[in-house]
Amino acid sequence: MSETVKYLLDESRMPKYWYNLVADLPKPPPPVLHPGTLQPIGPDDLSPLFPMSLIMQEVSAEREIEIPEPVRSIYRQWRPSPLYRARRLEKALDTPARIYYKYEGVSPAGSHKPNTAVAQAFYNKEAGISRISTETGAGQWGSSLAFAGALFGIEVHVFMVRVSYQQKPYRRALMETYGARCVASPSEETASGREVLARRPDHPGSLGIAISEAVEIAAQRDDTNYALGSVLNHVLLHQTVTGLEALAQMEMADDYPDVVVGCAGGGSNFAGIAFPFIGAQLRGGPKVRAVAVEPAACPTLTRGRYAYDFGDTAHLTPLVKMHTLGSTFTAPGFHAGGLRYHGMAPLVSHVEKLGLIEARAYHQTRCFEAGVQFARVEGILPAPESNHAVRAAIDEALRCKEEGVSRAILLNLSGHGHFDMQAYMDYFAGKLSDQNYDEAELAMALAGLPSVAEV
Ligand SMILES: *Cc1c(COP(=O)(O)O)cnc(C)c1O
Repeated sequence: MSETVKYLLDESRMPKYWYNLVADLPKPPPPVLHPGTLQPIGPDDLSPLFPMSLIMQEVSAEREIEIPEPVRSIYRQWRPSPLYRARRLEKALDTPARIYYKYEGVSPAGSHKPNTAVAQAFYNKEAGISRISTETGAGQWGSSLAFAGALFGIEVHVFMVRVSYQQKPYRRALMETYGARCVASPSEETASGREVLARRPDHPGSLGIAISEAVEIAAQRDDTNYALGSVLNHVLLHQTVTGLEALAQMEMADDYPDVVVGCAGGGSNFAGIAFPFIGAQLRGGPKVRAVAVEPAACPTLTRGRYAYDFGDTAHLTPLVKMHTLGSTFTAPGFHAGGLRYHGMAPLVSHVEKLGLIEARAYHQTRCFEAGVQFARVEGILPAPESNHAVRAAIDEALRCKEEGVSRAILLNLSGHGHFDMQAYMDYFAGKLSDQNYDEAELAMALAGLPSVAEV
């Protein structure tokens, strides 16, 4: 192993640090603004919701942030996660491309999300917090935080988007098995939930509403904090453990990716795999194309506006500058529930503006087609979200075939789809359709963006 890679890893080949891309960027990301004053916020403004250690990570420009030993000792249960060469997929596609996938489905919750859930639970425990409230869409984040909460003896209170609460009883059962309390959102337990229900008693819920409920609960009680499973800088930071491992594993494979691919909901698994490679490029290393793939029915990066917006529907969160479809935007129903958020991580949005990444949107049936093709040769059944990355990687490999060139493609297989079999059944029954979002609704949601005079 080269010295650079050796210094990244401990004796069990796990990274010792998370990597902060902000340290290597040519331009710092725009500040986060207070929702009332519209002035940049300070660390104290966030302290009702997060422990100071996470707030300091949120605003840090330090390149390396040490992973605490208690977090590393839990990571070791499934980390380093495997990096596979998809030789049978390459053969099936008859492509000269070298396809590699980093498999995050080996975590106890089945996705990349425990990488940050464990870290967040640790820092909250250290700060004396006994309860964490959060939101979840399809249930991946809720089950990851429930798992982490169980390990650290923290109570976890999950607001689950109502339509998923009804459609995904097994994810809910998993959260409850870990000891979390899970309620359908909008709920009667918060003012923001009651307000939505008064207007529309059968409201199916949205991530924006569930965030409002979870934030409201956390802001009211000293013993309760809030946790978010994507979007924020510290979440992206924790996910870089995947990209750092991949850097070392690619070196062991004696290769280096030309293209790095990840699906993008809030942007955390994409950032996790891509940022360490982008950072290496910015420090003079090889150039990589980093491709973020989103659903065409919720196309934040490709169709959203880069503007200051709220993270939630009730406008309780600070304002962040990001690619957004507007906080009132509700995506049509499609199966990759983890990709339905109206915004994109500010840091992913910023690097897109800097021209360091590419974005692409796909409809769901072509993604499922790719996921099934992948499962039939590689054996692993990807989550509906991960299918977006598989689709893009296959398309890149087919382009290599057309052009007669061999490129190395690395994709983040963010999770398995064992809890999403209904989606696969619908696909096989021909019941999946490619819905488009409502243009008029998007226009209205964008017209409702807060007006912020930028300096
Ligand atoms: C939540 C989730 C995503 C989307 O979230 P990001 O923050 O964009 O990574 C992707 N894949 C899986 C399996 C998920 O659970």
